[in-house]
Amino acid sequence: MTSETPGAQTQKLPTISFEFFPPKTEDMERNLWEVISRLAPLTPNFVSVTYGAGGSTRERTHSTIARILSETELTPAAHLTCVDATCADVDDVVARYYEVGVRHIVALRGDPSNGIGTAYQAHPQGYQTSADLVAAIKRNHSDMEVSVSAYPEKHPESADLDADIDVLKAKVDAGATRAITQFFFDNDLYFRYLDRVQAAGITIPIVPGILPVQNFKLASNFAKRAGATLPEWLAKKFEGLDDDADTRRLVAATVAAEQVQNLSARGVENFHFYTMNRADLVFAISHLLGIRPNGAQKAA
Ligand code: FAD
Repeated sequence: MTSETPGAQTQKLPTISFEFFPPKTEDMERNLWEVISRLAPLTPNFVSVTYGAGGSTRERTHSTIARILSETELTPAAHLTCVDATCADVDDVVARYYEVGVRHIVALRGDPSNGIGTAYQAHPQGYQTSADLVAAIKRNHSDMEVSVSAYPEKHPESADLDADIDVLKAKVDAGATRAITQFFFDNDLYFRYLDRVQAAGITIPIVPGILPVQNFKLASNFAKRAGATLPEWLAKKFEGLDDDADTRRLVAATVAAEQVQNLSARGVENFHFYTMNRADLVFAISHLLGIRPNGAQKAA
């Protein structure tokens, strides 16, 4: 339901956040800054920057975050993983963020360094679990906000959803105050997950991670790696469009718009967008949620 829906003018607008990945090349960097300039007027709650597998983007994530801090009014959140790093290394990364003014970390265990599907081995001198990482960040910087991951369809390594929710509970007990979900396309899955999470006594916001499907083949690959279901109805919507980018974009916009509007109508108040460093779809979907540049909706 949007603020344009008759009778809904007084409904609270959702808060939004955007996720970017650190650019590899100068061209990608130019593109990212165009995307940030386009999305910044939507005044997101925060924007997050991912941390490449095994810390491979450590410096690039840092410089992207530092530039966001120095050149925009946006509040950045830095993703961080424990993979292949000692506790001292990880603490150092957090301390550097703290020094430049970062007050929000998305704390993750990370994927196994030998690739998804292989067994995860914590560094012998490293944080053994994501909950250990959360606890260390809070111990060293009590005013650092810490968000963590959540998996409505369970993490591929989890024995079952209960084991997965136990891990989420440990992260919350360690000080996490927000969870952002892996992307999903079936909203019922998310609501069933919320019921289980609430039954486990977890009360922090579980913010849905929304992946606008800009490229169906890419999304299928992501979904396979992430253990997320790609429903048959979704595949059908993109059937035959491999060589038709224009129609694909229209379909993608419709699919994502329907998903977020349905979540919003069912009471969801926060959305995290996996932007894939592209602005158009995310801008349009935010618009449909009633969000206008520079908070103009407040005066509407
Ligand atoms: P955890 O929350 O610690 O664990 C996830 C689940 O895996 C648990 O629920 C648990 O049941 C199971 N599990 C964990 N350890 C074990 C074990 N040893 N044995 C059996 N089961 C186990 N990756 C990056 O590299 N960089 C990023 O910037 C990044 N950002 C992300 C942001 C979000 C919002 C999400 C949802 C994921 C992100 N990831 C990122 C992916 C993430 O690193 C992987 O999914 C990784 O495999 C798990 O890390 P985690 O912190 O989610 O794990």
